[in-house]
Amino acid sequence: SLTLGIVGLPNVGKSTLFNALTRNDVLAANYPFATIEPNVGVVPLPDPRLDKLAELYKSEKTVPAVVSFVDIAGIVKGASEGAGLGNKFLANIREANAICQVIRVFDDPDVIHVDGRIDPLSDIETINTELILADLQTLEKAVWRLEKEARTKKEAKPALEAAQKAKEILDSGRTLFSAQKDVDLELLREHSLLTTKPFLYVFNADESVLTDEARREELTKLVAPADAVFLDAKVEAELLELDDEESVRELLESVGQPEPGLYSLARAGFHTLGLQTYLTAGPKESRAWTIPQGATAPQAAGVIHTDFERGFIKAEIVSYDDLMAAGSMAAARAAGKVRMEGKDYLMSDGDVVEFRFNV
Ligand code: GDP
Repeated sequence: SLTLGIVGLPNVGKSTLFNALTRNDVLAANYPFATIEPNVGVVPLPDPRLDKLAELYKSEKTVPAVVSFVDIAGIVKGASEGAGLGNKFLANIREANAICQVIRVFDDPDVIHVDGRIDPLSDIETINTELILADLQTLEKAVWRLEKEARTKKEAKPALEAAQKAKEILDSGRTLFSAQKDVDLELLREHSLLTTKPFLYVFNADESVLTDEARREELTKLVAPADAVFLDAKVEAELLELDDEESVRELLESVGQPEPGLYSLARAGFHTLGLQTYLTAGPKESRAWTIPQGATAPQAAGVIHTDFERGFIKAEIVSYDDLMAAGSMAAARAAGKVRMEGKDYLMSDGDVVEFRFNV
């Protein structure tokens, strides 16, 4: 499954956040046979629709979609020089599908900041610089090889031009992810470049920032178009200790948060990875299934079982809202809200689906 790699400077709250990410039992409850790697934290994607579906279908249980975060330990400055942990750090990032950078915006005189002060932009640039340098090294070799190829093979020319353009962008200090308008990332795919990965930023903040709309907006703009999530990692850890809703609400209120930060982190992570869900419902379970944005109906069926994709005939689909408005599948059918979709249908978030297939 797709993962986000958690990176950040020392002392920004990565471990605190990661501990919170590993402290829920969504995997154990729903995927009893899954192996849980020690450096992977799996969080459920909050989806209130599942409980409503479960009510309607009298399902025994609900199974949410999940998002996986990998803790990428290691030094940061000098990583691209490949010394010791640096190599491992970059190799781990290469394996992740997206990068989740934790940035410290909390103020605490007892916790030393490596650069001596709170400066989100400088933190972002420090990480970017290491990734950019690593990509430049990769591209140096690639350009040299592609130049040779392009002399005899015309087809190699677009790849060469893209690699050259990418070098220019990186030389100017920009990540390739942020320069998608200027270079076709598809043409760079063969190089597995680190800065082409989507980024997500987690601002580890205290109440003063969490409740400061203007400051949040400023930080959101700083990282746009990447997603920004605001949370207090320490509070997230404390929330998981609480077992009654009342105390959870009180603690959230005290830091001016409408919901646990892990919820918004899960949603942002899901979005950053380019994923979406569709829903199935029945007496056994109501469930959210994970598919890439733009998946077709047979591809969506394949997530349940490969045989479903191979033998796909049709998908019987009703939107969640239409189903709920009608009150039952039979009523939705009677109201003409249930559609039969074929193999070219592009799935849409909130589709409640029953697949028809040959076995
Ligand atoms: P890491 O080096 O990035 O993994 O950072 P840690 O998670 O170990 O956190 C470093 C220190 O900062 C620890 O003493 C944490 O308790 C503290 N810390 C982490 N998050 C917060 C936060 O949101 N607010 C405050 N005040 N302290 C935090």
